[in-house]
Amino acid sequence: MPIATVNPANGETLETYEAMDAEELERRLQLAEATFRTYRTTTCPERARLLNRAADLLDEDRPEIARTMTVEMGKPVGQARAEAAKCARAMRWYAEHAQELLADEEPAADDVKDSGGSRAVVRYRPLGPVLAVMPWNFPLWQVVRFAAPALMAGNVGLLKHASNVPRTALYLEELFHRAGFPEGCFQTLLVGSGAVDEILRDERVKAATLTGSEPAGRAVAATAGEMIKKTVLELGGSDPYVVMPSADVDRAAEVAVTARVQNNGQSCIAAKRFIVHTDVYDAFTERFVAGMAALKVGDPLEEETEVGPLASEQGRADLEELVDDARRSGAEVLCGGERPEGPGWYYPPTVLAGVTREMRIHREEAFGPVATMYRAADLDAAVLIANDSPFGLSSNVWTRDEAEVDRFVRDLEAGGVFVNGMTASHPGFPFGGVKRSGYGRELSGHGIREFCNITTVWHG
Ligand code: NDP
Repeated sequence: MPIATVNPANGETLETYEAMDAEELERRLQLAEATFRTYRTTTCPERARLLNRAADLLDEDRPEIARTMTVEMGKPVGQARAEAAKCARAMRWYAEHAQELLADEEPAADDVKDSGGSRAVVRYRPLGPVLAVMPWNFPLWQVVRFAAPALMAGNVGLLKHASNVPRTALYLEELFHRAGFPEGCFQTLLVGSGAVDEILRDERVKAATLTGSEPAGRAVAATAGEMIKKTVLELGGSDPYVVMPSADVDRAAEVAVTARVQNNGQSCIAAKRFIVHTDVYDAFTERFVAGMAALKVGDPLEEETEVGPLASEQGRADLEELVDDARRSGAEVLCGGERPEGPGWYYPPTVLAGVTREMRIHREEAFGPVATMYRAADLDAAVLIANDSPFGLSSNVWTRDEAEVDRFVRDLEAGGVFVNGMTASHPGFPFGGVKRSGYGRELSGHGIREFCNITTVWHG
């Protein structure tokens, strides 16, 4: 895939970039290593000052960088502004909390005595240059949720962003530089995915984080495994959205629409499989389908647009194939399901009913505004359907029955259970999944400690 900005609303190529050559990559790796040597000795308050400055600059740049994101990957511009604002908040959150999250820990006095020591502490030290392989769907947020904790921990970042968001990728490097971070603290490597393997094998790169598809995650994890380097993987999701009879069904249906089509449906934590108790199935489905069908699809630069185009022609073709496969196998299309005529990679909000295990969409991630409906006879059936997926990122349950909540929290195979609401990330909560959704956690104290050398300091 060329490194290029191509507007998904009309397919027009706006700018193509040369990939960095071996010499430039070497220069950047040297710089990362050299910068780390000094940056690692800076204090948390000093790093926080720079990160707060980056947050202020990002707030100032919000309208412009939002338009850039929209032009590169097609999300409605209001959602792009919200993403930029969220990034600034996350930067401030880590600037404020990193010191306490990384404070020395004291093992129990009894254990210190038992070890024959006089005192001991656990210290969180940085690892070094960390490679971040990132996707285009939240082109600022995916990067910032790595960069903010990494920089606060004293690591330096090397970003290999998706090839279709080069302007956003370059903006990020420039943002951290303008904020005053020493040159080399955060660098963008403009390279295709074929270059990742060699970069990851380089001894100067100490660890990697990847958000994206399962094949990309597998490739990076395999190389990192060979090189014995730590990785965090945040891969796809096919999150269940369970609605039980005690739920506020109107509200559940209203939120379900947003949960499915946020970011034009291209979110790993979007609810994708709607599992509804048979008692409220018809009521929920009617409201949900009406909500999906009423969405305003169109130019993502227009403020009223709720759903823009998919980010790439391939992405739309993949989604269309999933829908066609389900339809051929007997799924009922309750709304949408037909690609519109005209330019741009649009696909309408679509709801499929009668989805079975044999259909690809049951097992694969539908990365676009397509929802699948399942009818569940009772809670046990709902849990079985919810867990019948290779993924385990997050989950949503709607019920006012506390005993049911306990059962879902006990039994759902996912890195999150969101009750009476939709999944959303927040810097204060760990984020990540189980099964093929990946491993490790981002955000919160768990996220910042992933790329630390957790060091035992023992005194005799
Ligand atoms: P990819 O996983 O291909 O892209 C994500 C990032 O990984 C990009 O920077 C990409 O670079 C890089 N990459 C791709 N292949 C490799 C590899 N073999 N080794 C190292 N790096 C690699 O996602 P796509 O854009 O192709 O989307 C495909 C599907 O992935 C989606 O339909 C969706 O199911 C899932 N996905 C999930 C996301 C999430 O948030 N969890 C985000 C994006 C996609 P380059 O752009 O240069 O290819």
